[in-house]
Amino acid sequence: MKYDYLIVGAGLFGAVFAHEAVKKGRTCLVVERRGHIAGNIYTEEISGIQVHRYGAHIFHTSDKKVWEYVNRFAEFNQYINSPIARYKDELYNLPFNMNTFSKMWGIATPEEAQKIIADQIADLHITQPRNLEEQALSLVGRDVYEKLIKGYTEKQWGRDCRELPSFIIRRLPLRFTYDNNYFNDRYQGIPIGGYTRIVEKLLEGTEVRLNTDYLAHRAELDALAEKVVYTGMIDQFYDYCLGVLEYRSVRFETEELEQENYQGNAVVNYTEREVPYTRIIEHKHFEFGKQPVTIISREYSSEWKKGDEPYYPVNNEKNDGLYEEYKAKAEGEKRVIFGGRLGSYRYYDMDKVIASALELCAREL
Ligand code: FAD
Ligand code: UDP
Repeated sequence: MKYDYLIVGAGLFGAVFAHEAVKKGRTCLVVERRGHIAGNIYTEEISGIQVHRYGAHIFHTSDKKVWEYVNRFAEFNQYINSPIARYKDELYNLPFNMNTFSKMWGIATPEEAQKIIADQIADLHITQPRNLEEQALSLVGRDVYEKLIKGYTEKQWGRDCRELPSFIIRRLPLRFTYDNNYFNDRYQGIPIGGYTRIVEKLLEGTEVRLNTDYLAHRAELDALAEKVVYTGMIDQFYDYCLGVLEYRSVRFETEELEQENYQGNAVVNYTEREVPYTRIIEHKHFEFGKQPVTIISREYSSEWKKGDEPYYPVNNEKNDGLYEEYKAKAEGEKRVIFGGRLGSYRYYDMDKVIASALELCAREL
């Protein structure tokens, strides 16, 4: 065997594992299907602007160890995510907070906001929210749900809000203070110089083969290493033998505009059903860019089908049940370890991916 580990996928999970393994004197080969490293956190510089090719990525965490770890590979700026929600011609601050409520209802105090929300849901008697709709209504009332949640969520997920799990909406903070920070985490920022550079540094000293699909060259690649760390889709690994896990995919329509400032904010969500995209990202605002041009990306959400890039796992009961069956199979593998967002069929943020890769390193190396 030429290598200790064959790592499938040059995304964040694979790169952290490779870095730690090489540090411990192990040999690794990374194979990556795409023509570049860094997986979905890939950024590329265009006209002096770091463009997030696979969607906006904001690093945020409360895990001090992870924050210190990632700061070894990049310096982070002071960006705080504060998206704007646009419903027809009305603009609101996100996440749902006193700025949102005061604009929606012309009120000023938390007490007034809480009373309006309570009045709007009094007749629903929701005690245990059974789905995203009930969860959202019970948190923010009918107006905010109808204007800022229902249309956006149904575009994003392609499903009725009553068919979606409530945890999706619980990711967002709800505050009765005037605070537009989208995250509650202790640490937040964007790496100066982009995310790709972090992954480049993690992979220093590791051999990487791009444009190489592990599943298309399985036998010859397996013969090269003692063990495999697989960060691709778990159902695809097993040739979908138990069934196909559902994902949402995203199409990004990116254009460069000959103007300095298009929308005045990095993220603007279009929350009405009728606008076909979910949001517009203006990349330069993640790094306070002053270039004479700007680059924007419109995001169109769609149901994943074979051949598309999988982005968001659809963690409903049916898919989670199927995933458990695949997981049981995976646990029986002697020389393959599954990890990362696709290997675990989980909506993992970057900090969670780093933490789980480091946990694996602690067990494995
Ligand atoms: P990936 O980045 O998906 O890497 C897996 C790699 O494996 C890919 O490069 C893929 O091409 C490769 N691969 C798969 N199958 C094969 C094969 N058969 N052969 C060879 N290679 C293969 N997180 C945050 O913390 N903050 C955010 O703001 C944020 N925003 C996001 C926005 C969007 C639109 C999306 C989709 C995700 C976002 N995330 C965010 C999550 C973040 O992208 C993930 O946590 C992270 O990219 C996961 O890393 P990974 O290595 O597990 O997976
Ligand atoms: N959401 C919404 N309206 C918004 C923003 C978010 O209804 O303007 C809901 C939607 O259901 C979404 C969820 O909150 O899927 C989580 O939002 P988040 O911004 O975390 O999604 P991501 O950035 O991961 O796409």
